[in-house]
Amino acid sequence: MSLDFHFNSPVEVLDLPLLRERKVQVSVKRDDLIHPFISGNKWRKLKYILMQALEDRKKTLVTFGGAWSNHLLATACAGAKFGFKTHGFVRGEMVSNPVLSMCRLYGMKLQFVDRASYRDKEMLYEQNFSVQDAVYIGEGGFSVDATLGCKEIVQELPQEYEHIFVASGTGTTVAGLATGVFEQNLSTRVHSIPVLKGGDFLKSDVQSLGVNPENITFHTNYHFGGYAKYTAELLAFVTDFVQNTGIMIEPTYTGKAFYALFDLVKQDYFVPGDQVVIIHTGGLTGFLGMYDKF
Ligand SMILES: *Cc1c(COP(=O)(O)O)cnc(C)c1O
Repeated sequence: MSLDFHFNSPVEVLDLPLLRERKVQVSVKRDDLIHPFISGNKWRKLKYILMQALEDRKKTLVTFGGAWSNHLLATACAGAKFGFKTHGFVRGEMVSNPVLSMCRLYGMKLQFVDRASYRDKEMLYEQNFSVQDAVYIGEGGFSVDATLGCKEIVQELPQEYEHIFVASGTGTTVAGLATGVFEQNLSTRVHSIPVLKGGDFLKSDVQSLGVNPENITFHTNYHFGGYAKYTAELLAFVTDFVQNTGIMIEPTYTGKAFYALFDLVKQDYFVPGDQVVIIHTGGLTGFLGMYDKF
């Protein structure tokens, strides 16, 4: 079977007063349009992992995530689409929510594990599965193979930009972007907005994926208190942005990345004439956990 992934997402230029006033062009690479429920970058990260799994005739995809994990959902859907069984180890006590229900609907078997056992993921995999049958996929898809899929974002861009921005959790997507920019010899500056507190840990993580962290600018002060944390200001920004552009973003990932980019525009971080592209990584299911905030 071939992997029928629909990428080549469109790029849209934003028309907003602040951007006109500062003469900064901001384009959005709409990876949120790759799939209605699945984060575009999660889909890209799975591409080469699944190609290898098909080649190795593996039957089962085994992976890990929190109860709202976009990666679990992506793996569940990809399993259904490409004929793999899927098993998700979920961190923490048993809960129910729309994301986990969608995982089950796609056929994923969910196993809740306490936080202590969750830390030793290789052990969970080894005790329950065999390498002949099952592929181990790290939390969030973190792997060199995953960066290969993300690198293709750069190949799809219609022009050269001065800056490229993305939200970071594990840093895999930004590592892929930096690899793409490096291999194509572009002068584009790559920027990461860590959504977790203490985002400097990403420097060693991207290094372990074969990327020189010097090639990425990490803006570590836009985490709003930590993963999935938010402030009234962030929620107000998300609301304004959605209402002024018609493009949905959510507070956990894309809201923080877009907030950071607009904040930098306001601070005149860019020079007039700069062309900036930001990757809309999708993840709109994150909104389902916060619907009562809007
Ligand atoms: C997972 C995710 C990210 C972070 O990607 P990493 O490769 O882990 O850095 C960004 N945005 C969305 C919407 C995500 O689901």
